[in-house]
Amino acid sequence: MDMEEKGIKDPQVLTAMAKVPRHRFVLPDDLSYAYEDQPLPIGYGQTISQPYIVALMTQLLELKDTDRVLEVGTGSGYQTAILAEIARKVYTIEIIPPLAHKARQTLESLGYTNIEFRIGDGYYGWEEAAPFEAIIVTAAHEEIPSPLQKQLAEGGRLVLPVGPANAIQILWRILRRNGIYHKENHGFVRFVPFVRKKS
Ligand code: SAH
Repeated sequence: MDMEEKGIKDPQVLTAMAKVPRHRFVLPDDLSYAYEDQPLPIGYGQTISQPYIVALMTQLLELKDTDRVLEVGTGSGYQTAILAEIARKVYTIEIIPPLAHKARQTLESLGYTNIEFRIGDGYYGWEEAAPFEAIIVTAAHEEIPSPLQKQLAEGGRLVLPVGPANAIQILWRILRRNGIYHKENHGFVRFVPFVRKKS
């Protein structure tokens, strides 16, 4: 797929997308589809995102190599790898333990050393490591989780799908400038639901 034709222009994103071996993040049965521009199942009712959407969300984060990034929804770890290629450090949270374990194994076997893993409900973010220059959420919630917005550094970017589960959602980018949050609509997307841990 021609990422540039679809509007992906950030050279760091294009380089990372070309470098990360997506076939390492898909199920054995889907190896032949690994480089198609489509989401694929990863088990537990979850999916590895479509490469174009991964590239678009990463581009919207406007990452610098000094940035620390929070990711909610590790899933396969593919998006995590793209972030780890560009940013200084990635903090990633996944609510389904076996997916978290598998992603960690894959990412460690690929040699990434700048990723911190956590299992749990990402709604609350990662308070001890906040604030983050960039935050990305890869599951759709009905509204913007307020703890995540609060953990955004001044000048930071939050990119996330918002909308009802199992329907079309909107991809939002929230920019924090001088303590004020600016919201930009980046079009329609479809993500798996954001799940809340029952306490
Ligand atoms: N970027 C991932 C997307 C995986 S799908 C990839 O491309 O592989 C979204 C993931 O978010 C799923 O693995 C799901 O279990 C996880 N998720 C859903 N709700 C969550 C929550 N509250 N906290 C952390 N992870 C969550």
